[in-house]
Amino acid sequence: MVGGGITGLTAGYRLAVDHPEIDVTVLEASNRPGGYLRTGPLDDPMLDGLPIDAGADAFLVRVPWALDLCVELGIDTELVSPSARKASLWLDDALWPIPSPNVLGVPLDPETVAPGLLAPADLERLAGDGVPDVPIGGTLDRALGTSGDLSVGAVIRACVGDRVFERLVDPLLGGINAGRADDLSCAVMAPQLLAPARSTEGLLAGLRRTAAVADPAAPVFHSPAAGMERIVDALVAVLGDRLRTGSPVTRLDRAPDGDTSDRQVAGWVATTASGTYRADSVVLAVPAHVAATLVAPHSDDAGEVLTGWRHASVALATVAFDRADLEVPADQSGFLVGRATNQESSPLMTACSFAGSKWAHLDHPERIVLRVSCGRIDDKRPAGLTDDELVAALLADLATTLGVEAPPTAVRLERFPDSLVQYPVGHIDRITALDGLLADATPGLLVAGTVRNGVGIPACIRSGTEAAEAAVAAATR
Ligand SMILES: Cc1cc2nc3c(=O)[nH]c(=O)nc-3n(C[C@H](O)[C@H](O)[C@H](O)COP(=O)(O)OP(=O)(O)OC[C@H]3O[C@@H](n4cnc5c(N)ncnc54)[C@H](O)[C@@H]3O)c2cc1C
Repeated sequence: MVGGGITGLTAGYRLAVDHPEIDVTVLEASNRPGGYLRTGPLDDPMLDGLPIDAGADAFLVRVPWALDLCVELGIDTELVSPSARKASLWLDDALWPIPSPNVLGVPLDPETVAPGLLAPADLERLAGDGVPDVPIGGTLDRALGTSGDLSVGAVIRACVGDRVFERLVDPLLGGINAGRADDLSCAVMAPQLLAPARSTEGLLAGLRRTAAVADPAAPVFHSPAAGMERIVDALVAVLGDRLRTGSPVTRLDRAPDGDTSDRQVAGWVATTASGTYRADSVVLAVPAHVAATLVAPHSDDAGEVLTGWRHASVALATVAFDRADLEVPADQSGFLVGRATNQESSPLMTACSFAGSKWAHLDHPERIVLRVSCGRIDDKRPAGLTDDELVAALLADLATTLGVEAPPTAVRLERFPDSLVQYPVGHIDRITALDGLLADATPGLLVAGTVRNGVGIPACIRSGTEAAEAAVAAATR
């Protein structure tokens, strides 16, 4: 495995557990495993070492892969769910409640939309079934097609209109990977919308039917109470010395004595600063640009495909305030910030999560802890600021949105350059094409992780699991 984030660790763990006869090594560039899963205390003695995530802070349970892994690792009893489930949206210089129930921002009941958030025509439309606009003289098929991928924007705009998309769906979905939902693949980012949008019953009717049989009290997210790094620690405990940190892979070569006469797999040699490693199969669980560099010498075409992946850079400031200086609603997990027409004068922050309202174990009697995000694919302002300038700008945004003027008791800033993949329409075909190129030119070399089916932790765990299976298949072919 190249890369010791959640994807590479999962792939290594799967092989170690399911195939103890196979030698597996996870090579991680940095001195700590986990990639974007990082948990640690803030520099505020009052918080007494409270574990607060610096990156991802929860995983979705609507899909099984992360929860299943926690069960298998025996840490499911440590999982907690957000106590506050409501959230708001900062739009037009005010906080608006996000209508609930909603699916990725699409309100299922127009009665729950705060007056003034949408226009009467939008509410009328939301009261209907969400059958797509039909072009004049056209048919339903011509509005959304019958198959293939579309952008999230195309689907939502056609079914429920532009304002619902711009004021609700884009802020919610864009919040997941800091992207523009007009450019994002619906098949990857919101597969649950595509089928009902294309059905004759309509998007809203389909979503309402699904919601009617779901348990509204069922948890949507989980996290270990000790923070997301607990999952990393549990995987690392099983991997033991199969994990080598401080081992950036700088090149991959075909093994010189690989016997290609009766086997497709020639074998690979990974070079790190501390030595070389030979393997029948290599899983690249690294960002696309790193995978591109390692693959390109063996397949120009695969390297070129991987070079084309676009990423958004984000930063996350964790900020603590004295409780006397700030009040946040206990029933709200936080708020998202919608995209403004004039970016220069709009807040830098894209979201603010109230850690103590969201997670009961982070609710501190003396402190309010906020996690403030910034950076979008089309907003590079944070990258142009020093850390001090960025923190100052985010504190100014908190003053505007929450009215807090007092200095924080602690601040921790983490930057995540080129971290969030943007999945264009047709991404799934792009992955199929990439797999084909790799199978032809570099048998035994596989790509896994966020390059494939989403940035979420469950998608990464699924990808790590599938990569482990594929690596065994490739090595024994
Ligand atoms: C700020 C932020 C908040 C997020 N919040 C959530 C959330 O709440 N819920 C959720 O589900 N998802 C969230 N995500 C997304 C999720 O955290 C990531 O998509 C996921 O952790 C990626 O895991 P990975 O293992 O595929 O990649 P990474 O975590 O990027 O791991 C790749 C690893 O490869 C290593 N590496 C790089 N180059 C080399 C090399 N040459 N040799 C060896 N090793 C190398 C890196 O050091 C790194 O450790 C968030 C992401 C960010 C940035």
